[in-house]
Amino acid sequence: MVDKINDIELTEYFSLYEFECPCCKRVMLSSDLFTRLNHLRMAINRPIYINSGYRCPEENKRVGGVAGSYHLLGMAVDIHVKDLLLYDLLTFAQEIDFNGIGFYEKKGFLHLDMRPGPKHFWKGKELIGY
Ligand SMILES: [Zn+2]
Ligand SMILES: [Zn+2]
Repeated sequence: MVDKINDIELTEYFSLYEFECPCCKRVMLSSDLFTRLNHLRMAINRPIYINSGYRCPEENKRVGGVAGSYHLLGMAVDIHVKDLLLYDLLTFAQEIDFNGIGFYEKKGFLHLDMRPGPKHFWKGKELIGY
């Protein structure tokens, strides 16, 4: 049996493996991002699915992420929630202090990050892969 790497419950809502890189299981996770994600989880009162958390450089290339992606630093997540309109999820996320929010309506996910500096919000695919 393979060791259950990253099978660690961080809070009642999230385990570490949900944030790991799918190719190598390495993981970095910003505590500021994680705190806010838990606040979002409590606000919507539904499970949050992590489409993409930490990415190693190889994985970031594979998925077409930009070179400076905050996923490489453990400071970004892409998420979706079942039975909740993406637009409603966006409204909840905007009430919480994320620094970057990307709204990917066609792909059905929200990108959230904790970049330094001014807040960023974008829609659609002009900055795809962030
Ligand atoms: Zn990897
Ligand atoms: Zn992203």
